[in-house]
Amino acid sequence: MNYKRSSTLFAQAERVIPGGVNSPVRAFKAVGGTPIFVKEAKGAYLYDEDGNRFVDYINSWGPMILGHAYQPVVDAVVEKAKKGTSFGMPTEIETQIAELAVSMVPNIDKIRFVNSGTEACMSAVRLARGFTGKDKIIKFAGCYHGHSDSFLIQAGSGAVTFGSPNSPGVTKGTAKDTLLARYNDIHQVADLIEANKNKIACIIIEPVAGNMGCIPPKEGFLQALRKLCYANEILLIFDEVMTGFRLAKGGVQELYNVNADIVCFGKVIGGGLPVGAFAARHDIMDHLAPLGPVYQAGTLSGNPLAMAAGLAMLKALDENSEIFSRLEDKTKYLHQGISKALESHGVTHTINRVGSMISVHFDKEPVVDIETAAKGNNEIFKKFFHGLLDEGVYIAPSAFETWFITDALTYEDLDFTIAAIDKVAMEL
Ligand SMILES: *Cc1c(COP(=O)(O)O)cnc(C)c1O
Repeated sequence: MNYKRSSTLFAQAERVIPGGVNSPVRAFKAVGGTPIFVKEAKGAYLYDEDGNRFVDYINSWGPMILGHAYQPVVDAVVEKAKKGTSFGMPTEIETQIAELAVSMVPNIDKIRFVNSGTEACMSAVRLARGFTGKDKIIKFAGCYHGHSDSFLIQAGSGAVTFGSPNSPGVTKGTAKDTLLARYNDIHQVADLIEANKNKIACIIIEPVAGNMGCIPPKEGFLQALRKLCYANEILLIFDEVMTGFRLAKGGVQELYNVNADIVCFGKVIGGGLPVGAFAARHDIMDHLAPLGPVYQAGTLSGNPLAMAAGLAMLKALDENSEIFSRLEDKTKYLHQGISKALESHGVTHTINRVGSMISVHFDKEPVVDIETAAKGNNEIFKKFFHGLLDEGVYIAPSAFETWFITDALTYEDLDFTIAAIDKVAMEL
């Protein structure tokens, strides 16, 4: 394939944008080469500035669960835009999407909308601290909760890809309040709690991890966390920015039947516009300003275009709940096809999958946490990535990312992908 115009555009971008991108994972630093510039996208396909077509397995890193330019979302945004794009005043649509979200997700009474997943997680932790009167938090190595200071401690994909698990600019004072645990290791969490009695406000977790590849919680892990939190008056925060409205209508709480105290959303909830949200029971949410003392605000929060896109997306998912099992079937089909193709060429691999999230790791050991995820062979991944790109299949340019399956993918697209993988595997 020819990427000439993308290369030119990237060179231009690099002069005025650090690294040529507005978010580091978009750069091809981990795999080499220059990123492709998107011209447009429809359904399961991306079209770049050179006229190449790609079957898309990133889907804007998760939001486009029904495919690109999904008509009801596009129509809702266009109609709203004609009536003004921001007021900084209440609008009815904010209540409509809030009611719908609260009805779809278990265990939440109220929800507040923000502009990104980062903001949602940052605000959720502030709320947990304000509610409990305690300072420390526990996070898991390899989990990503956005780029706010307290979370940039072993923060998964982006940070790991670039070898800077702890970012300069995060003060020691901030870092000391973030305690790190190993994903899927309940004993370590129990030890941390014991060593920090009455100091821990919350545990924040990706209840199905998606930022070190896709890593499911071990059986009983989430339930055990829940128990520890109850016993120690710690709030359990599920960061469902990736999994919310993707793995089930009610996200991981529904899928694994575990209740969180605060849930964070992003990605799908905005239908491809910049939206995040956090939600909890009344008594927790009522600690937020203007009702309570915990401050949180946003000029563009609840923006009408964003709410219109999110509402159209959630409605589609709410009214067609067979989408989730259909997505799982497609993902399973892809899983089997990839396994077969890699096996037939003797390529060592492990594949993790939950619902419509899947990741391919070039190592044979089970991938259960960041350490095992990091064992994957990156040289093979690079060849795999570029090979697939040249065959018209776009996966994330990092070995630590999950692939997102969209409902727009047909079985023909999946067969096309599997054939591409079979061809590329021959050269690995
Ligand atoms: C993407 C993501 C975030 C951050 O969301 P942004 O909208 O990129 O700020 C937080 N948590 C998880 C689990 C994510 O996948």
